[in-house]
Amino acid sequence: MLSGRYAVFTSYKMMENIKITTGSYFDGEKYHNDGPYHIVINDGVISSIERKNYQINVAFLMPGLVEAHCHLFLDGGELELSKRSAYLKASQEEMLSVGHKNIQQSIGAGITLIRDAGDKYGVNHMLRNDAQGVVIRSPGLALRSPKRYGSFMAREVESEDDIRAALSKNAVMSDDIKIILTGIIDFEAGAVKGHPQFDLEALKLIVQLSHEKGLKTYAHCSGEEGLTLALAAGVDSIEHGFFMSRNILEQMAEKQVAWVPTFSPVHFQWQQPEMLGWDDTTVGNLRRILDEHLLRVAMAADIGVPLVAGSDAGSYGVNHGKALIDELFHFAEAGVNIAEILRSATSRPRHMWGMKSADIKVGVCADFVAFGGSPFDDMASLRKAVASYRNGSFMLPFEGEL
Ligand SMILES: [Zn+2]
Repeated sequence: MLSGRYAVFTSYKMMENIKITTGSYFDGEKYHNDGPYHIVINDGVISSIERKNYQINVAFLMPGLVEAHCHLFLDGGELELSKRSAYLKASQEEMLSVGHKNIQQSIGAGITLIRDAGDKYGVNHMLRNDAQGVVIRSPGLALRSPKRYGSFMAREVESEDDIRAALSKNAVMSDDIKIILTGIIDFEAGAVKGHPQFDLEALKLIVQLSHEKGLKTYAHCSGEEGLTLALAAGVDSIEHGFFMSRNILEQMAEKQVAWVPTFSPVHFQWQQPEMLGWDDTTVGNLRRILDEHLLRVAMAADIGVPLVAGSDAGSYGVNHGKALIDELFHFAEAGVNIAEILRSATSRPRHMWGMKSADIKVGVCADFVAFGGSPFDDMASLRKAVASYRNGSFMLPFEGEL
């Protein structure tokens, strides 16, 4: 019984023992819906989970959410194109303050782990050191070919020497190696722009050197040509992956290559085409791309491709925090079941990235988010995280009664 509940949940920092009673929870793998459960945390570690007849204080718990693909230095809510391009010349101080706001928005959604996907200003590395309670994985700069897409987030590499030098630099500071393998999608043409940025030999070298340094690779990659190359080179995670095919998905399932489908940026442009002045043909292309993506994600879940949720927040119209939850709804629209959806944003990315588990199991460091209802009953509950906790502190403090 949490008699001092109000005081407990509103303390920002606390390392003493706490007891939480929840009606149900998802432990990272499985749904436990036969509560109430009484979870005791000692010095930040879950020391026991018992089914007891306690008063229910929260309705649902699960491991803290993971955002697998975002650009922390970019404000996705800035919709004026002139301001977006002017911002790329902003001071570091301004970018850091935008980054901090984005972290706060992420915390508000129940996120406790963020994998940034690149910026050329190194703001992601700086935010990692001042992460306000969440954990940030930062690639620093991504890698791209000279004069190709990705100038805001990547350094140019061309020769073998360039690649070796860039990876030696990145290896010191980066948690993962981000590769810009293909161009952006030309929505007016409904296709990926240009050929892949690297050939098989160069890409293999990047992957091999990264792995030698103990780093995983994730590639911005859409279209059959780039996807085929990424799989042949042994890339660990496909980011975006538009124009996916069954053949590619089968290889991904076999090799257990992750897929982060990032519906959100395309969905925004389809939903509000007037913002960028898209005509009917382009809107039709956007819809067709989204519909195909939904079918491929369903197929991926079906054949065992490890889906991972990431929103590409920071992109045009894609807000940090909220967009990750939107992404979970896109998975649901594709027909992915709720346990699999929650895995894609909790246990799976932590496991695939070799990070500490946050599963709600005895002996695990408490890292969780609480909601006012169970998403197994109604996914809308995911829209309002009521508390989150990590490293012995409430990050999103519980406010008031449920
Ligand atoms: Zn991105």
